[in-house]
Amino acid sequence: MKLLGREQLEALSKFQGEDFLTTSLFLDTSKNRMSKKEIQVSFKNLINAGRSRLGQLSLPKSQKNSLFQDLDKIKAFCARNLSTHNYVGLALFSCSDRSFWQEFNLVKSPRNLVIFDRNPYVRPLSAILNEYHRTCLLTFDAKEAKWYEIYMGEIRLLENLTGDVPSKIKEGGREGYSSKRIERHRASRVRDFLKQIAKTTFMLTKNDAYDWLFLGCLDEYRLELEPLLHPYVQKKLKARVRVKPNDSQGKILKEALAAKDLLKKQEKEEIVERFVTEMERDGLAVSGLGYTLRKLNRGEVQTLLVARNFSKPGRRCPRCEFLFEDEAVCPSCQIETNPYVDIIDEAVETALNSSCEVKHLNPPSQLDRYGHIGAFLRFKA
Ligand SMILES: [Zn+2]
Repeated sequence: MKLLGREQLEALSKFQGEDFLTTSLFLDTSKNRMSKKEIQVSFKNLINAGRSRLGQLSLPKSQKNSLFQDLDKIKAFCARNLSTHNYVGLALFSCSDRSFWQEFNLVKSPRNLVIFDRNPYVRPLSAILNEYHRTCLLTFDAKEAKWYEIYMGEIRLLENLTGDVPSKIKEGGREGYSSKRIERHRASRVRDFLKQIAKTTFMLTKNDAYDWLFLGCLDEYRLELEPLLHPYVQKKLKARVRVKPNDSQGKILKEALAAKDLLKKQEKEEIVERFVTEMERDGLAVSGLGYTLRKLNRGEVQTLLVARNFSKPGRRCPRCEFLFEDEAVCPSCQIETNPYVDIIDEAVETALNSSCEVKHLNPPSQLDRYGHIGAFLRFKA
């Protein structure tokens, strides 16, 4: 299935193979950059590297066999599907002993990677989702309104509405009292249409259906529409785009994507700036792996910030699920903790499952000065 939203990641991250490890495989399948042959070769290399690593792992035989079976299944899957695969990336998760299998088609290329760990490695998927915001684009004039959804590089029409607004009176037409009356009548019809547009926009965007709202219309209409929008909708309004209702979907998509790129860049800059400010005034933020894990364990994190290239092994308590850099025994449960390949991935999963936001920042950023990981806190403990 196509990777579409956070709900899929939450479901995926809940899988636990108990004693059996899960294989996670990520493959760059971008046909823009590679030929089919090159993709096949890089896949083969990835599987071979996985096999040789598996050979060296010290695990009980049954657990190792389950992982070898995973690689066989993945190989068979790719032999059947890779040549017709039309996305730029593929993610596969398997735990053969538990009959667990998941596949995701990706709209952004991941780094080639194969990981054996106690649960699915979701971090690359979380980073991809981080790049996309569900956007609703409204474009209208006095006669017509259209709403589009723009997500993961695709556009689709959500709704359209036609207004019952008479045309403007032509110059040199009727004059005097009657023409003023007609203009007033027209203005009131336009206003009715704008009210309808505001109402429909609320219906389409409520319940957090969209992260952002973009608007494409003439200035005079915008000034009249904005006060009519529900405060909730006003907050979602992030950009204006130069499009009209009868523009082609291709043009609308292009304008929207340009506006999105700009917003994404601004958003990341603002986050890092806010983080540095909070750190400097000893406010609602922490930095560094140890402090961040501690806050995450206590449910105090509101937004987790991670540098994209930062990864480190760590441990997790199987009972209370607390994360540690290197505690061999959980201090509160007094039982042995389990090792994980990348504790940052576990941190991302904990955040996903406790309704924290996760932001993946591309280095270099100021976050690198703060130990490559940090968090905004819900409150000051
Ligand atoms: Zn514990």
